[in-house]
Amino acid sequence: MTDCVFCKIIAGEIPGTLVFQDGQVTAFRDLNPAAPTHILIVPNQHIASINSLADQDEALVGHLFTAARQIAAQEGIAEGGYRLIINTNAHAGQTVFHLHLHLLGGTPLKYPMG
Ligand code: 5GP
Ligand code: ZN
Repeated sequence: MTDCVFCKIIAGEIPGTLVFQDGQVTAFRDLNPAAPTHILIVPNQHIASINSLADQDEALVGHLFTAARQIAAQEGIAEGGYRLIINTNAHAGQTVFHLHLHLLGGTPLKYPMG
């Protein structure tokens, strides 16, 4: 998608601090981090949100979580703990309409949510 900021980061058209990339997903540091480690994990294919997933995307969604596990270990936050968040549409505060998994950690995180 030509006007999508995450598609541009995936394509290398605008700068992003990549921490992981393979044929299906890309992960990069959030521009405005909410925790010491704040990484966004996104499908390389433009999918606007969870609402836009197709049944055949199940393996891709699983791969996002596999990437999250590997990145958490790589970042040294697996043992201490971390939070994965996916915002969908206005009530959740989604601002970028390219599906992304927030990986947050590196400090005790505030709770409860919502
Ligand atoms: P959302 O609120 O949609 O779940 O999260 C969007 C996230 O994308 C926010 O945490 C925001 O800081 C991040 N973000 C927005 N634009 C950019 C950008 O151009 N580069 C990076 N690395 N992160 C961005
Ligand atoms: Zn996109």
